[in-house]
Amino acid sequence: MNKKELTHAEKVIEDLLKKEGMSRRDALKLMGVGGAAAMLGGAPLSASQSDEGSSSSEAKAKIVIVGGGTGGVIMAARLRRAAPNAEITIVAPNDIHLYQPGQVFMAAGLYTEEDIKKPNADLMPGGVKWIKDEVRIFDPDANIVETAKNGKVKYDFLVVATGLEYNYEGIEGMRPELVGQKGISSVYLNDPVKGTARGGTATWEWFKKLRAAAEKASEANPVTAIYTQPDTPIKCGGAPQKILYLSDDFLRGNGPTGGTDVHKNVKALFCKKGTKLFGLPDYNKTLVDEVTPMYGNITDKWNHILRKIDPEKRVATFEHIYLVKGEYDPNLEEYDMITKRETVEIEYDFIHVVPPMKPVKSIANSPLGWPKGNAKGWLACDRYTLQHMKYKNVFGIGDILGIPLGKTGGSARHHGPVVQENLIAAMEGKDLSAKFDGYTVCPLKTQYGKIMLAEFNYDGPAPSFPLDPAKPRWIWWAFDLYMLKPMYWNLMMRGLM
Ligand SMILES: Cc1cc2nc3c(=O)[nH]c(=O)nc-3n(C[C@H](O)[C@H](O)[C@H](O)COP(=O)(O)OP(=O)(O)OC[C@H]3O[C@@H](n4cnc5c(N)ncnc54)[C@H](O)[C@@H]3O)c2cc1C
Repeated sequence: MNKKELTHAEKVIEDLLKKEGMSRRDALKLMGVGGAAAMLGGAPLSASQSDEGSSSSEAKAKIVIVGGGTGGVIMAARLRRAAPNAEITIVAPNDIHLYQPGQVFMAAGLYTEEDIKKPNADLMPGGVKWIKDEVRIFDPDANIVETAKNGKVKYDFLVVATGLEYNYEGIEGMRPELVGQKGISSVYLNDPVKGTARGGTATWEWFKKLRAAAEKASEANPVTAIYTQPDTPIKCGGAPQKILYLSDDFLRGNGPTGGTDVHKNVKALFCKKGTKLFGLPDYNKTLVDEVTPMYGNITDKWNHILRKIDPEKRVATFEHIYLVKGEYDPNLEEYDMITKRETVEIEYDFIHVVPPMKPVKSIANSPLGWPKGNAKGWLACDRYTLQHMKYKNVFGIGDILGIPLGKTGGSARHHGPVVQENLIAAMEGKDLSAKFDGYTVCPLKTQYGKIMLAEFNYDGPAPSFPLDPAKPRWIWWAFDLYMLKPMYWNLMMRGLM
């Protein structure tokens, strides 16, 4: 590899990596599949996980994959190669495939909707039967899925890759149609079946309108912009903060259209559950000590959950959950802490709404969802093997999984080889040996041109490269913006990384 002739672009990237303190060897490794792969889930997969050297089988079986987004296409590609004698069917309604991470770059004015779309037909592997339909009923006791228009489909093995649903209506007064109107935006809004990503476009318009309002305001009489995060699991947990920081940086005059620094004319309120910006201390420290102070106009409203919105009056109503000191307990030598709830109304000029998210109905209403508890309705699977807890011929991939971590495309990339190996082991009547370690990646955009590449798993931080993972870097931004998308289409969707 050291002798490889580098292209001009590679030389530029190599220099940048060396400036980041990397050895030439590591820099070259990173420039291989690794660099951009990092944004989608860590270093190149190990030999046993990658295509070469991964498990395969001559066994015959009927495998049905439900869902044709990130996880479904990864599984179709991997299983087609790994199980050449299997009859593989994918049930997926969508003609268009969206590269959803690109919605944040759309919001930042750097991609358009066309940049993140591809016909799903271009991605479907040859030899896989595609039923363009959706599953209405999962009947795992009969090993059948029932589609809306194409009747029942029988399977020996099932892979659930349905993703999740947005629940805008879970906020009183809110509905998707309001995005782009009356100061409301939401980067998440997309329609995976129609193949539209209106949230990205609307949020870029919102950035510009916010800036125009800030130009007319003053520090003494600022514009109020609220950024919310719900109390449900969400895909790409960093996206609410990505929008907060990118829009604030855009107000500083950074971003594609430039301008003067007007960010002090905006009072930014970040409203979320909990009292931390990030669950892991090192990543949280960077956000608290470096990123938030760098802007200076952001106030964190801890434990404020958006419950209601009045778009006409521009008033957002939050449930504020807080603790107060109760009675002193002389035995424990401490005060009881009592949870209190209050309703807080905040007037705003602009609001970025992150919808509550929930498992798709067809899974939540089936025997495949967890029957109770925090993960109620999400696919009830083992967090390591990704096999269903009860129905051993059912596996899952992607956002639908009812496991503690991993609602990102990068996680789905790591689920892929685990499901492949374990499903094949199950086909051959062997023990399941592959384990998902909880890998999740959050390329947190802290400003235009910088990303903190937060990687973690069930055990804590899990950096893939020998660089301080808590430091926001230009190099991650460059990989994300320029290299990741082609790698998603050409490698990840082909099950090659
Ligand atoms: C704004 C935004 C930013 C993001 N940023 C990042 C990032 O930086 N890095 C990262 O790794 N990830 C990111 N993600 C997350 C990533 O896109 C998802 O985690 C990933 O797409 C999940 O894949 P999936 O297959 O589970 O779901 P999806 O890709 O959403 O696909 C699910 C598919 O299943 C279909 N479906 C649903 N129900 C049925 C049914 N009953 N029958 C048949 N088909 C069905 C749907 O139509 C859909 O096409 C981001 C997402 C968004 C929205």
